[in-house]
Amino acid sequence: MTMAVSTLLTLDQACAWVRRFGDAISQNKEYLTRLDAAIGDGDHGINLDRGFRAVRPKLDAAPPTDLGALYKLVGSTLISTVGGASGPLYGTAFLRLGGALAGKTTAGLPELSTALTLAYEGVAARGKSRRGEKTMLDAFGPAVDALQDGTEAGRSLLETVEAAVIAAEVGTEATIPLLATKGRAGFLGENSIGHQDPGATSTALLFRALAASVGS
Ligand code: ADP
Ligand code: MG
Repeated sequence: MTMAVSTLLTLDQACAWVRRFGDAISQNKEYLTRLDAAIGDGDHGINLDRGFRAVRPKLDAAPPTDLGALYKLVGSTLISTVGGASGPLYGTAFLRLGGALAGKTTAGLPELSTALTLAYEGVAARGKSRRGEKTMLDAFGPAVDALQDGTEAGRSLLETVEAAVIAAEVGTEATIPLLATKGRAGFLGENSIGHQDPGATSTALLFRALAASVGS
């Protein structure tokens, strides 16, 4: 199979990314919820699925005409419909993405890398958290590092986004031995050790959905 190598994330691909992530959340709802049952309150998959069920009809009713509008719609919908920590955190990430890409209908790797770095920093600021605390940042951080590395090295969009997926997945697995200090898992102290963080797991799905959308 030959595949056109695109250097830009288009508006169509960006919309497909959001839909794919929503589909992945719905397919992994039980899994994410099970992970959250071990170190939280067992609702992570349910929370995010509720959010994306609200996003889909809005995209269908009025397809956004630029990347900023798309991600702002996603962010504000997640904030208003998802209870729990992950709604405002993912909501902040998407609002930051939307702010960084306002008015654009395409984004090259450098812009996407900068926008996702701002999104990552937004989650850290909102959550008063940093890497190593067994949260979604442990997947998000390595993924944005990979995007920055690929940008600096002049690698292609697809290759770089695929590297970000691996980085996010490795980061997610690396949450297993970590001690949680933030969110509900933080209340468990030592008992949080030995479990994979649900938020990092969903963030790895976010990057996997991005790679699938860039590569199709
Ligand atoms: P809640 O904990 O309110 O039930 P969810 O279950 O939907 O919310 O989401 C839990 C996930 O949110 C965690 O697995 C973790 O990755 C993430 N999280 C929680 N608190 C923080 C924080 N302060 N900073 C970053 N991520 C966090
Ligand atoms: Mg929960």
